[in-house]
Amino acid sequence: MTALPAATLAQLEAAGVEPGRPLLISDADEVLFRFVETFVGHIEARGYSFDWSSFRLTGNVRRASDDTVLDQPQVFALLQEFFAAHAEDMPPVPGAAEGLARLARAGVQIVVLTNIPPAQRDARRLALARNRMPYPVVVNTGDKGPAAAWLAARAGGPAVFVDDGPNNHVSVKQAAPEIACLHFVATERLARLVEKPPEADGRPEDWPALERAVAVSLGLTCGGT
Ligand SMILES: [Mg+2]
Repeated sequence: MTALPAATLAQLEAAGVEPGRPLLISDADEVLFRFVETFVGHIEARGYSFDWSSFRLTGNVRRASDDTVLDQPQVFALLQEFFAAHAEDMPPVPGAAEGLARLARAGVQIVVLTNIPPAQRDARRLALARNRMPYPVVVNTGDKGPAAAWLAARAGGPAVFVDDGPNNHVSVKQAAPEIACLHFVATERLARLVEKPPEADGRPEDWPALERAVAVSLGLTCGGT
């Protein structure tokens, strides 16, 4: 297993995963929060536009005044500014809180594994709590595989990983092939731009379908709608 940074390891320990219980590892942006439309609204108000031509952010953000495509450092700077402004008030994905609550009642332990900038960790935790998703948050940097593998090993039973980013599924399957991977993209317009990666075991289209797929992946006889 790839060595985990000390800061990540401390958060993984603090997530309180209990051995012997089924585990759901969930991404936040585009799974629990309506990331892309909030981001696009934010940049449009600042003189930029979004092309909606592929799943990536870089290459799709333009300066409206001269149509220049922003490069990666410029998009990264916009993202940092966006999360600093909106990590606390991003709207939730409809059905996410209810679905997670039913799964939790069915005995599933839930950990949110998010690549938000570390400075926004508390804002993310607050936003989740405000939106009735008060689950432990692990702020990760880069590949999610090592952190997901650590959590699944601690749980020691069935584990499922949900994320919109194809690269995260590649990383998780590589690090821990026993984790079931569900590809989920909440925003339909964005979902149309990306296919299910071969590493993912399913591609539910909405939260009711995702909830059922999580329950099936974890071998639950109840918990889905
Ligand atoms: Mg995401």
